[in-house]
Amino acid sequence: MPETLISGLLNWLNQSPTPFHVVQTAVTSLDTAGFVHVSELGDEMPALGYLAHDGCIVAWRLGSPKGALRIIGAHTDSPNLRVLPQPDIYQLGLSQLAIEIYGGVLLNSWLDRDLGIAGRVIDSNGASHLYSAPQALARIPQLAIHLDREIGDKGLHLDRHQHMTPVWGSSKQTFIDWIRRVSGVTDVAAFDAHLFDITPASLLGIDESLLASGRLDNQASCWSAVEALRSASDSEHTSILVLNDHEEVGSNSSTGAAGPMLSRVVSRIATQHGLREGQHFDRLASSWCLSADNAHAIHPNYPERHEPRHAPLINNGPAVKVNGNQRYATSARGLAHIRSIAQSHNIPLQTFASRNNVPCGSTIGPITATQLGIEAIDIGIPQLSMHSAREMCGANDPLHMVSLMSAFLQR
Ligand code: ZN
Repeated sequence: MPETLISGLLNWLNQSPTPFHVVQTAVTSLDTAGFVHVSELGDEMPALGYLAHDGCIVAWRLGSPKGALRIIGAHTDSPNLRVLPQPDIYQLGLSQLAIEIYGGVLLNSWLDRDLGIAGRVIDSNGASHLYSAPQALARIPQLAIHLDREIGDKGLHLDRHQHMTPVWGSSKQTFIDWIRRVSGVTDVAAFDAHLFDITPASLLGIDESLLASGRLDNQASCWSAVEALRSASDSEHTSILVLNDHEEVGSNSSTGAAGPMLSRVVSRIATQHGLREGQHFDRLASSWCLSADNAHAIHPNYPERHEPRHAPLINNGPAVKVNGNQRYATSARGLAHIRSIAQSHNIPLQTFASRNNVPCGSTIGPITATQLGIEAIDIGIPQLSMHSAREMCGANDPLHMVSLMSAFLQR
């Protein structure tokens, strides 16, 4: 069973080069499990349903009006390079693409990789069409060591604007012509185009106990959450999945965690369950949100960067993330709740806290807690190379995460 399950994650990663594709992949998976697409919240809510918009999807499995909510959240976006609206450059015998850097990209990791391009096209009627070209189309060539003699002493210095411009041919090219061909849409009004490493996701290591891929942060969590929701059995609690876009740039957008999609679905479910406003608020107060976003595993070459008592190991289970300054939402009550779930199902669980002089990132957990007034627990699969074009985690930890999420939905 675990082997087929982990190949499901590898397929998911290969099919999902952009947040739009993550949503499409989630939709395909939910459709086969009997979930029904809802286009308007004014319609009757099906027992199993989902609402999707751009890079965000909210899905649910309705429980009874007396039950509480069990929400699992993750994010669909990953740091990457995105083609600008007027990208064509032709100079010194090469065609290049003007790009914008999205989120906290580890710039060096994008050098000398074969890059594909994927995204969506908006036609003149406003309809959206996804496309993906996982071929070696572009590359950012690194400067030869002979022309950069100081690199050994001073390290690699990359100018974010000048040095990250990919090459994509030696003849003069027009990007919009390529977009028309690859998408099959002739009246392209505008496009989104994201670069991605075309190397497929793969198991790694002499014992194949590791997993390497782009976008593990945070598609490993998206995949785990969809698997848990699909396989959940009926419960008095209502299970909700939310995969938000734009976490890597602060979550402030209509499809981000600070936007309204989750709160609208939660309100709509309360109406369907016949709850008055006060009862709805009481339900939120007795509910839980599990916010899943990958954590930093301890790096064997840089152990000093970690708080030694709270440094998660690869393949030792998901890590609960704790931060009193509320970069993570987990309280002592939340830690106790998730520990008791893990213990009763024999799921390994670790704890992550950062060093006081190495501030941690944040997640959608504190934002969701603030928006809904619901208690959130931040948790993540431990990984290395976070925000690299190709990241790495343990092959067992995503399976532990599915087990933990499944148990969380049933508790
Ligand atoms: Zn993340």
